[in-house]
Amino acid sequence: MVINAGVERNISLNDYASFADGELLDRIDKLSAGLRGAAIQHINSTFIGGGVAEILQSLTPIMRSIGLQARWDIISAGEEFFGVTKAFHNAFHGEKIDFSDKMAEIYRLTAAANLDVVDREADYVIIHDQQPLGLAERKAGHRGRWVWYCHIDPVNVDARLWEFLSSYAARCDAAIYHMAEYAKNLGNRQFFLPPAIDPLSDKNREVTAAEQDRVLQELDFPSDKPVILQVSRFDRLKNPFGVVEAFRKVRDDIPSYLILAGGAADDDPEGLEVLAELLKMVDNDPDIRILNLSPTSHLEINVLQRACDIIVQNSIKEGFGLTVTEALWKGKPVVAAPAGGILKQVIHEQTGLLAKDGEELTGCLTRLLKDPGLASELGQRGKEHARKNFITPVYLYNWLSLMDEMRA
Ligand code: UDP
Repeated sequence: MVINAGVERNISLNDYASFADGELLDRIDKLSAGLRGAAIQHINSTFIGGGVAEILQSLTPIMRSIGLQARWDIISAGEEFFGVTKAFHNAFHGEKIDFSDKMAEIYRLTAAANLDVVDREADYVIIHDQQPLGLAERKAGHRGRWVWYCHIDPVNVDARLWEFLSSYAARCDAAIYHMAEYAKNLGNRQFFLPPAIDPLSDKNREVTAAEQDRVLQELDFPSDKPVILQVSRFDRLKNPFGVVEAFRKVRDDIPSYLILAGGAADDDPEGLEVLAELLKMVDNDPDIRILNLSPTSHLEINVLQRACDIIVQNSIKEGFGLTVTEALWKGKPVVAAPAGGILKQVIHEQTGLLAKDGEELTGCLTRLLKDPGLASELGQRGKEHARKNFITPVYLYNWLSLMDEMRA
């Protein structure tokens, strides 16, 4: 069995007391009393990299800190399996997949080889995403309650693939989706649990003035004009091209900078292609910076989000949009496209501004640059919205409620 030594963060619920309402902490206290000692096992496919791993690095130790026996395990698999599940992942996003018997066979064999990962004594077995879902073979005769947590938008999943995966998911007692709009009918119980950001992680914690100065200097961050920022993988669905177009119109009116910060991994040819196209479009424009960051640039992203004036998220499609949560948490005015989970976060004119096309994006950016009072008000309300709904202590409470309800 693979041990996750050193990956979980050294944290407890007490560390989050200053971010949470007293009333929320009381509710956590009450619910955890009834669940104390319950054994909960989280299973996914990696300890490092990706949103689920980031969530579990905080959630597992924080659950233990309130008296649950929480553990986190992963399945072991080879390249061939991950090639198949990457194709599955893309097919959730509507990409074409030629789902074959060979793929099903590779998936089944890996599941069979990992059945012993399941803790026989667990009261709750939580299967995160589709990679470990084959472990549902172990559900029959298991004493615990099983939950499948779908962290991506399954609405446009390929029909044949869904037929295959749902036969496993339906064996679980319940399924969790980020929001009601993503629910699929599996015939079992359904819960809706949006993800959360960790206010104490390097991506979101307060930074010292010295850290901020150092990072800004390293990134050659400009200070003579307002800065508009979008942080996103270089992906067409994040529509960075639309941001450049809108920015150029804004800049004709109000001198400003645009920073597009993202990453393009070597193993993601599409990311590199989008980056190359962007560089071509930007054509050494002195007001536009493209930052190709490494996957570990958490502090850099944190500092960029804190130092800029407006944050944009111009996605065409979006699962939940953690970059938006991160932006709201920094108290920045956000202008975002009305896609997927962004709609739960950016309430138009209250916690940010929604812009459905390039013209609206130009209009919203110009408006905010001309009205710092509005920008600051939206930023403050946005931060409070994130604090109330999308940070670790709230996430923990939602988990406890779910576990409590599942006992009924
Ligand atoms: N992110 C990052 N480096 C990058 C681009 C994004 O660390 O170059 C982070 C970003 O801060 C956020 C996550 O990756 O925490 C992206 O999550 P989101 O839900 O916004 O979009 P996804 O990439 O999952 O579609």
